[in-house]
Amino acid sequence: MNEAMKVWFLSSEVEPFAKTGGLADVAGSLPRALHGFGVDVRVGLPYYRSIRDQNIFATQIVAGLEVPLGDLVLPCKVQETQTKEGIRVYLFEREDLFDRPHLYGNAEGDYYDNLERFSFFCRGAILFAKRIGFSFDVVHCHDWQTGLVPAYIKSIYRNDPFFSNTASVFTIHNIGYQGLFPGAKLDTCGIPSWEFHPDGIEYWGNISLLKAGLVYSDLITTVSPTYSEEIQTPEFGLGMEGVLKKRAQDLRGILNGADYSVWDPARDPHIVSPYQPETMEGKKKNKFALIEEMGLKPLFKVQPVLGMISRLSSQKGCDLLVEILDELVKLDVGLVILGSGEEKYESMLVDLSQRHRGSMAVRIGFDDPLAHRIVAGADMLLVPSMYEPCGLTQMYALRYGTVPVVRATGGLDDTIVEFDPVENKGNGFKFGPYEAKPFLTAIRRAIDVFKDGEPWQRLMQNGMKEDFSWDRAAREYLELYESVLTRKREGGKRESQSAF
Ligand code: ADP
Repeated sequence: MNEAMKVWFLSSEVEPFAKTGGLADVAGSLPRALHGFGVDVRVGLPYYRSIRDQNIFATQIVAGLEVPLGDLVLPCKVQETQTKEGIRVYLFEREDLFDRPHLYGNAEGDYYDNLERFSFFCRGAILFAKRIGFSFDVVHCHDWQTGLVPAYIKSIYRNDPFFSNTASVFTIHNIGYQGLFPGAKLDTCGIPSWEFHPDGIEYWGNISLLKAGLVYSDLITTVSPTYSEEIQTPEFGLGMEGVLKKRAQDLRGILNGADYSVWDPARDPHIVSPYQPETMEGKKKNKFALIEEMGLKPLFKVQPVLGMISRLSSQKGCDLLVEILDELVKLDVGLVILGSGEEKYESMLVDLSQRHRGSMAVRIGFDDPLAHRIVAGADMLLVPSMYEPCGLTQMYALRYGTVPVVRATGGLDDTIVEFDPVENKGNGFKFGPYEAKPFLTAIRRAIDVFKDGEPWQRLMQNGMKEDFSWDRAAREYLELYESVLTRKREGGKRESQSAF
C-alpha cells in the first residue's frame, strides 16, 4: 500500500481552537475531510491565550526549538493536542508573542509586532517539521499570516534536501488583508535582501506577506471559482491583480464546504428545537424563541424575520444595510443582527436598533451559539457583501431552511441561484450592483414569495436539500496536491523567480 500523503497545514486560526472568521472554519474542516481520505494531515497554529484558557489536553513535545527572528534566536515550545478524529495539532507557544487577549490586534488596531509574531510562527513551523522528521509532501498555507512559509522554502531553505520534494500551496481567503510591513523590517523576517524586489516579496517599498505567499508558492488557490477570476481584475485584486495574472496558470478556485457536523439543524445543540426538512415545525419554534430572546414584537411571528451574522466592515456591505434600514423596517419585517468589527458600524447599528426598538435587535460581539440560533430562527439571511471570496453563512443558512439574500459576487454568486417559483428552481435571491436600491428590491422579492406561503416552503426545501459538504472540496484539494507533486517529480517545477 502506498504511504499516506503528508500535509503540513498551517493557519493562524483553526476551529475549535481559535476563530475570528471563516478561515478558522476552513482550517478546522478541511483537515478533517482530508484525514477522512487517509491523508496524514497535521495542523499548526500559534498557542494564543484563548487556546490556553480552554484548558484542552495538550502535551509539550518540544521545549527549546530555536527560531531565528531578526538578530535573535528565540526558543519556542510546541504543544501537541489531537482533535476528536485523531488529527495531530501543534501549538507554537511563545508567551511574549501570543499570550494576548486577541489574535491580531485590539480596538486600537493591529498589534505593532505582527511581523515578528507571524515570522516566528512560520519559521518555527518549518524548523519544527524538520526537528520531528515530519517530511511533509505538501505544506498548505493560508492567508498572509503564513505567506512567509513558501518564501522561506524557496529562499533560505532552497538547497536543504529536507524540503527538496516538498510542494507549497497557498490559499487566499481574503485578498483585502495583505500583511504589509515597512521594507526596512526585512531583516526581522529573515528573508534575504536579494528577494526584495517587485517580483519577490517587495510591494511598493513595503514587505507584503500575502505577496510572498503568491509569488513563492507552487500553487495558489482561492475559495471560489468566481473569486479566482475576480481577483485578477483591478476592482477586486486590490493591487495584487498583476501578480495573480502572471500566475493565472497556477491559480485555482475551489469552493469551500460547509461543515454539517457543526451546522445541522437536526443535531445542533445550540438551538431550542431540532428540525429537518420533514419536521419544519421545529424551525417555527426556533423563530419564536429568537423573537423572544431578541425582544422583537410578537407580530413578527407571522412576518419575515431577517438575520445577518457578520464581521462589521465595509467589505460585508454594512453601508448598504445602514442605508436601507429605515425603508426595511417600514416593510414590517423583523431584523436581527449579530456582528463585531469597525466601531462606526457598531455604533450606527446600535443607534438604529434603539430607534427601531421591537423591530430591530443588534448584538455586538462574537457569539457562536447565538449565530446558530439566528441561522435557525430567521426566515432570511442577508449577505450584501461588496466582495465575498466564498462566504459561509449563506451555506449554513441553506441547510437550516433560511433563505439567503445575497449580492452576486464571489462565492455568493457561485452558491446562490435566484428562485424561480414557476420552475421551482433556485435557492435564494440575488442582486447585482453594489447599491441600496437593488438590495432592497431583492429583499422585496423575497418578502413577496414569503407572503405567498406555499412557494416559500418549496424554496426552503430546495436550500435544505443542497449539499455543500467538505468531501467534494477535500477531493479537489487532494487532486491538486497530487498534481503539484507530480509536476515536481517530473521536474516541471515552476521556477517562481524566473517566471517574473
Ligand atoms: P469572513 O471569514 O469574511 O468573516 P465567512 O462568511 O467566510 O466570512 O465566515 C464567517 C464565519 O464567522 C461564519 O462561521 C460566521 O457564522 C462567523 N461569524 C461572523 N461574525 C460572527 C459573530 N459576530 N459571532 C459569531 N459568529 C460569527
